[in-house]
Amino acid sequence: MSRIEKPLALLTYNLPPGWIRSLDGQVRLITPPAGGRGFTPELQAHFGQAEGLLSMLTDRVDGALLERMPKLKVVSNMAVGVDNIDLEACRARSIPVGHTPGVLTAATADMAMALLLASARLIPQASHDAREGRWGPWEADAWLGADLGGAKLGVVGLGQIGSAIARRAHGFGLRIAYCARSPKLEAESALDAVRLDLPELLKISDFVVLAVDLNETTQGLVGKAELGMMKETAILVNIARGPVVQTEALVHALQEKRIAGAALDVTDPEPLPPSHPLYGLPNCLITPHIGSATHGARRGMAELACENLLAGLKGYGLRNQVP
Ligand code: NAP
Repeated sequence: MSRIEKPLALLTYNLPPGWIRSLDGQVRLITPPAGGRGFTPELQAHFGQAEGLLSMLTDRVDGALLERMPKLKVVSNMAVGVDNIDLEACRARSIPVGHTPGVLTAATADMAMALLLASARLIPQASHDAREGRWGPWEADAWLGADLGGAKLGVVGLGQIGSAIARRAHGFGLRIAYCARSPKLEAESALDAVRLDLPELLKISDFVVLAVDLNETTQGLVGKAELGMMKETAILVNIARGPVVQTEALVHALQEKRIAGAALDVTDPEPLPPSHPLYGLPNCLITPHIGSATHGARRGMAELACENLLAGLKGYGLRNQVP
């Protein structure tokens, strides 16, 4: 195949070359200039010819964008969530959308457990106090956290990541409840997990972990009413997407100590501006959307996204195509 015949593909982020090796010699790849990201002018200059798009979760792919890319054959998102993509607009143009489930499940579930443990055991506060010189003689009743053994964990959304969190939590002696659109019989038999509706789950849980995808049924799912149903001692962990929680309602619930704490890997908005009130709350732990940020997971996501891109460019079915 001559150079000119290679399909043109846009990549919106300068990924490490080793992660996208499979594209070598297969496509004419257009990437942003060093330090750039997203649909920079350099990428826009090729919209008319682009047949493939490898996007990040921060890139909005909607009907207006697709209009400008008349030759587009495939959108490959380097994320499992596809809430940044207008799936209906892609469907209308018969453009398959790829995503990267599975390869990030363990890393993201590990992160959920890290957030849960850190919040339960007040690790950020205790570490901060030690650095600030507040570590005096050993105190029997200082920095007391929550016990995990026998406590109840409510998992909202028992998909791949939610199930992996439930398995890990089961190993820590937590009792598992879950909320899902359909029963998850494997978790019920293997982990003794109990299916509850959302209000019931919120009422009984000591820890609530959100692991749903962001869709029309989960947008703003946890607001003032839902936070009001939770125990005063409960901790909310959001590993899903920021807009699943109503931020203002959460700020008030934490300020008024209506719940004990929150641990958020995702927020609304993202990035959360440094002046945001959530940062001022000692009972709120925030990480900058790093759920899948391990060497193995991110490399796996990039490799899978490349595989989906190449399949779409060749007109084959994608390994992981969004239904
Ligand atoms: P998944 O296997 O598709 O799981 C999503 C689950 O959410 C499904 O089981 C689905 O239920 C459930 N769900 C959707 N709407 C619901 C509702 N209204 N009530 C109850 N359950 C509902 O996807 P996954 O791989 O576990 O990933 C889940 C999400 O995690 C992603 O979409 C992404 O937004 C987020 N994520 C975040 C990070 C991070 O860095 N923080 C990393 C990876 C993923 P059904 O089984 O009935 O369809």
